[in-house]
Amino acid sequence: MVKFNDIYVLQGTNSFKNVSEKVKAFKKEYPNKKIISLGIGDVSKPIVKPVVDAMHKAINDLADIKTFKGYGFYYGHDFLKQAILDNEYKDKSFSLNEIYISNGTKTDTTSILELFDINSKICAYEPLYPIYKDGSLCINRKVTILNNFDENFNPIIPKEKYDLIYMCSPNNPIGIAYSKDVLEKWVSYALKNKAIILYDNVYHRFITNKDVPKSIYDIKDAKKVAIEFRSFSKNASFTGVRCSYFIIPNDICKDINDLWKLRTINRFNGADYIAQKGAEATFLPKAKRLISKNIKYYQDNAKLLKKVFEKYQFVVMGGIDSPFLWIKNPNNLNSWETFEFFLKELNIIVIPGIIFGNKGDNYFRVSALGTRESVLKAIKRMENYYEKKF
Ligand SMILES: *Cc1c(COP(=O)(O)O)cnc(C)c1O
Repeated sequence: MVKFNDIYVLQGTNSFKNVSEKVKAFKKEYPNKKIISLGIGDVSKPIVKPVVDAMHKAINDLADIKTFKGYGFYYGHDFLKQAILDNEYKDKSFSLNEIYISNGTKTDTTSILELFDINSKICAYEPLYPIYKDGSLCINRKVTILNNFDENFNPIIPKEKYDLIYMCSPNNPIGIAYSKDVLEKWVSYALKNKAIILYDNVYHRFITNKDVPKSIYDIKDAKKVAIEFRSFSKNASFTGVRCSYFIIPNDICKDINDLWKLRTINRFNGADYIAQKGAEATFLPKAKRLISKNIKYYQDNAKLLKKVFEKYQFVVMGGIDSPFLWIKNPNNLNSWETFEFFLKELNIIVIPGIIFGNKGDNYFRVSALGTRESVLKAIKRMENYYEKKF
């Protein structure tokens, strides 16, 4: 008889699915209430025109045998790899053999574990992007959850030795980005312990502070210890198109790229050609300008949201170098109670912090990736509600 994988059988009660279920039940009970979501982690801006045009053209390439592209590009097309190295890693001297194109950072950040021994010691800091823990479990890797932070929510270096460390900067859900100082300490820990940092950097375009490194490779010697993951999802609205990339520096060890290439040939047939042509076009000057405008739009959303929450005495983190705000619950509520409060009193969806781990239970997450219209409406509702109270 078949036995199912326990990991899929044992479903938790603290997930995004529970948020949707609760919202659905509320809508059923109060069909006339207009709900605003500040919860979504998806983008609200469509893909910019030069990128869409490139994807149309890519479809035509596939219709002609002279330009047709099929199997064989397991690690990504050179045209995209070169465009990324030229535009994103200009002074970092990586070669085409150290960069991989894939179909999403969600899977990339856990697939990479296949490179390492099954007994490797892996850690991540909670509150976290839940995939590091749950996605790793799906491929039989157990991640140790740490939760020591300094007063600015920077992860404190563990005394123990870990082989692999998940880091996310700019951070989802906490909304901050790690400073040069913090990253230097981590790189030095990794060098000392011969560890590898798995650096989820999908929000790098949202950094506004000039002193915050956009890439971990801005830190000296990071090439010896870090694998950096990025995606076109959040900055270029590719959440539905699917295209991501990551760097595995040869400097980590001599054969690491040969190993990963073997793994890839056995487990992946490469990312979509059309998506890769679209991703390449995000670096055209005209597309770059439009994409920067979209990012500015989300950053302005974040500023507006931060301002209104602070006006009503909430303790707000983030929102400056990331599209997320991480906010302390009001009145000693826990995070599901806070979620209920916002849903019932203001008809606004926020994400309870416990979804990102137990350590998140005193907080909730607000996203600035929605439309300006919904942000302004949410602000108005908060003003109406709190002006009566104060
Ligand atoms: C959204 C998100 C991802 C997923 O990116 P995809 O490329 O769409 O799979 C990865 N990491 C973090 C922290 C995210 O918020």
